[in-house]
Amino acid sequence: MRDEYSAATEEITGHFSENESTEIRGRQLVSRDHRKTVGDIKVDNPRIQCRDVSVFYADKQALFNVSLDIARNEVIAMIGPSGCGKSTFLRCLNRMNDTIDICRVTGQITMDGVDIYARAMDDVVPLRAKVGMVFQKPNPFPKSVYDNIAYGPKIHGLANNRCELDEIVETSLKKAGLWKEVKDRLNLPGTGLSGGQQQRLCIARAIAVSPEVILMDEPCSALDPIATARIEDLIDELSRQYAIVIVTHSMQQAARVSQRTAYFHLGYLIEVGDTKQIFTIPHHQLTEDYITGRFG
Ligand code: ADP
Repeated sequence: MRDEYSAATEEITGHFSENESTEIRGRQLVSRDHRKTVGDIKVDNPRIQCRDVSVFYADKQALFNVSLDIARNEVIAMIGPSGCGKSTFLRCLNRMNDTIDICRVTGQITMDGVDIYARAMDDVVPLRAKVGMVFQKPNPFPKSVYDNIAYGPKIHGLANNRCELDEIVETSLKKAGLWKEVKDRLNLPGTGLSGGQQQRLCIARAIAVSPEVILMDEPCSALDPIATARIEDLIDELSRQYAIVIVTHSMQQAARVSQRTAYFHLGYLIEVGDTKQIFTIPHHQLTEDYITGRFG
């Protein structure tokens, strides 16, 4: 453990001056009033790169100069107290904030090197297929299970005939771990499924349009522990194929499902790092306060 502590101290002393850090229980931590992100925001071969992203709702700034890479095939968790900008940040990644009139986004976000806020990308439909989203409350369309999945591929022209569409529906439901439960009721309404099944249906719907990234905004907060465990297992499986960015208010969930964790505080990305490091030896005092239950 001493080695990990001294590595952490070295990282801090390397990036922050003496008056920016404080020694706590024999360990150097960045002081509470510093807002520069601690930890490595970069990854090798990123899928998404965010640089200096700020978000305003009318005159109120909700996110301050966030820079962060999202890797391919990683699960990265966004944690922090309520109202600290986690969902706002998530919504920047597929331009969902465009749907809020008073919302303005500055800075740069690229996906595979392409600026997703460039004029040429103003048709956001293809972007939202590439960067799918799953919400807090399962929101199946008021359609059959089959049509919930088939709708996206139909609009995006991903199937040439009914047979190909059937194939996409089956594969997506299988990937979402729902096929066995619904294969005999594909024509029944999606809204008739249990909460956990509805959430997996929404995940299958996102998968059906061949995304590269899946955004999940507290996907288990409306689910019971068993349904939650199924979604968490699914996240693990899906991460082999997709990058997953998950907002969660549960630190236990972040620890269970993610490889990296980003801690937000009052609109600032305070710290990012390996999930285990964030939860055992955080480098910023604000992260330490949060994970030890002193804040939020
Ligand atoms: P979190 O996901 O961490 O709970 P949010 O991103 O939802 O935080 O909110 C960050 C800040 O932005 C909060 O102060 C919130 O009130 C504000 N905010 C979020 N959405 C809107 C909106 N649609 N209109 C105005 N302000 C908003």
